[in-house]
Amino acid sequence: MNAPEPVPFYVHDLTQAEKDAVCAVMDTRFLTTGSSVRAFETAFAEYLGIEHAVCLTSCTGAMHLALLALGIGAGDEVITTPMSFVATATAIMEAGATPVFVDVEPTTGNIDAAAIEAAITPRTKAILPVHLYGLMVDMIAVREIADRHGLRVIEDAAHCVEGERDGVRPGQLSDAAAFSFYATKNLTCGEGGALVCRDGELAEHVRRLSHHGITKLAFDRFQQGTIHWDMVDFGWKYNMSNLSAAMLLPQLERVDRNLERRQALAQRYTRAFADMDRIAVQHVPTNARHAHHLYPIWIRDGDRDAIYLALREHGIECAVNYRPIHLMSYFREQRGGGEGQFPHAEWIGDRTISLPFYPRLDDETADRVIDAVRNVLAE
Ligand SMILES: *Cc1c(COP(=O)(O)O)cnc(C)c1O
Repeated sequence: MNAPEPVPFYVHDLTQAEKDAVCAVMDTRFLTTGSSVRAFETAFAEYLGIEHAVCLTSCTGAMHLALLALGIGAGDEVITTPMSFVATATAIMEAGATPVFVDVEPTTGNIDAAAIEAAITPRTKAILPVHLYGLMVDMIAVREIADRHGLRVIEDAAHCVEGERDGVRPGQLSDAAAFSFYATKNLTCGEGGALVCRDGELAEHVRRLSHHGITKLAFDRFQQGTIHWDMVDFGWKYNMSNLSAAMLLPQLERVDRNLERRQALAQRYTRAFADMDRIAVQHVPTNARHAHHLYPIWIRDGDRDAIYLALREHGIECAVNYRPIHLMSYFREQRGGGEGQFPHAEWIGDRTISLPFYPRLDDETADRVIDAVRNVLAE
């Protein structure tokens, strides 16, 4: 008998609706930013319960432009977490500012709000928390600290479209929240992102910075019959195309249904591992609705990389989210990063394995993942 097919780490949930939507754009004249982008911005802002959304080409770009539009740059420090994808820190550096890491809570992996204050200096201009795996940071605590010290708050909500905590959703207590529509995210158009915010001027500023700092996009000129545009800012080129937005629109209608499926899968995994002392999972406060972007297990003891490879031998594809940013070679060599600086982030970084986790994963396949984890850890 042949071995069963490996269980993929990620499978997207694109359907005929997305194919039709993209093809419909191809039959129009506007492939670049236009009505599909505007329609998705409106729908996305409405879904999140926030005033404004600006579609961009990545979450990294969204964070970069939010920092620029808020006047944060050279000589400024931005407090963030080392337990994230490198883009969280590189976006700060793209803006010309310096990321200052603060360790995470050992039980959630989220930035430890209680430790933020000790890292604030006269150069600190902003806090950039990450809602790790889809669990929101305590934004009420972060907001209080920011208010006390006159700081901006920009959320890396790449994992957290559906998340909520204490009745607060991404963007509602901060200056802005950035989302990713990268290939493996809960909403995807391959590559893409968005910034949401409450301040209309900030949204317009980011929109302008996303398109060379010029006053009118081709679509606006076409609609309004304007002849001339002007360049009023030094900007970048981060505007989303109608093709990407068309792919996102139908997915938004399924976003809560897909969350329900991942909630059921998370419960299945968590129940199955509850009696296994070697496995820790992210603690979820009762006042939070987890967006369940990733499902990582933290192996308390044993060689994580060996366990990862053994799972692959058992046909289970996994990932590591994340080895902490300050231990990446660039940060060690150029930015003084080293072991022992952020023990909780390093503990997770040495132990975490993300399991296959997506709406199209059926119960039977999830049980294969569970059996493989049990078998590997018993070996
Ligand atoms: C994916 C991801 C990003 C980067 O998103 P892009 O859209 O690829 O720029 C940033 N932060 C976190 C936490 C992510 O997971």
